[in-house]
Amino acid sequence: MSVANNLVTIKQNIEQACQKVHRSSDEVTIIGVTKYVTIEKAEEAVKQGIYHLGENRTEGLLDKHKVIGDAATWHFIGSLQSRKVKEIIDKVDYIHSIDRKSIVKEINKRASKPLDCFVQVNVSGEESKHGIALEEAETFINMIKDYPNIKVIGLMTMAPFVEDERLVRNVFRTLRELRDQIQKKEWDQAPCRYLSMGMSNDYQLAIEEGATHIRIGTSLVGPYEE
Ligand SMILES: *Cc1c(COP(=O)(O)O)cnc(C)c1O
Repeated sequence: MSVANNLVTIKQNIEQACQKVHRSSDEVTIIGVTKYVTIEKAEEAVKQGIYHLGENRTEGLLDKHKVIGDAATWHFIGSLQSRKVKEIIDKVDYIHSIDRKSIVKEINKRASKPLDCFVQVNVSGEESKHGIALEEAETFINMIKDYPNIKVIGLMTMAPFVEDERLVRNVFRTLRELRDQIQKKEWDQAPCRYLSMGMSNDYQLAIEEGATHIRIGTSLVGPYEE
């Protein structure tokens, strides 16, 4: 399927989910996740008006950034190794995977200006998932005030890959509640307005629960060629 065709379906689904909960679809940013596809496919997405691209590996981000550059806004969505921060710091507009102090320190040191970041929270508590534990998130975000180059603009999570809609919804809702709680503190380092949640299989649910940034790979630019 072409990106254009996929996008028609995705936009309909977004519209539907928004209507259900009386939100405007203008509040939802689609991040096209291009991690498994070619540069050409990523360029096709940009041509279709997907100006936000997400990559989960530094190599993938650098390869695509070299060609596409400023034509897109770049989101780093994968787990980030401290030693690789310096390679991508000037190329990314957002990092979605802030989840430990060492990465906060490294970004703070390497960034030349405050960088918009999402703190990744492991809401489901699955051991396989990255992210800070739910109970530790508030203390962690408070600590970030000591690192002025990190601006916590929102929270990010990945829901478990399960059929049970209630479980998935519950994860999204819990992240939203945490977002509300942090936002109320009015911490300078953490305006925390946004929710990065929802992927190909669950973005409608995520939108119903308040997602502002959905990260879509397979349904948009896939199915992936192995
Ligand atoms: C791969 C990936 C996505 C997109 O997944 P799809 O199921 O292909 O839409 C979203 N977020 C993160 C963090 C990812 O690694």
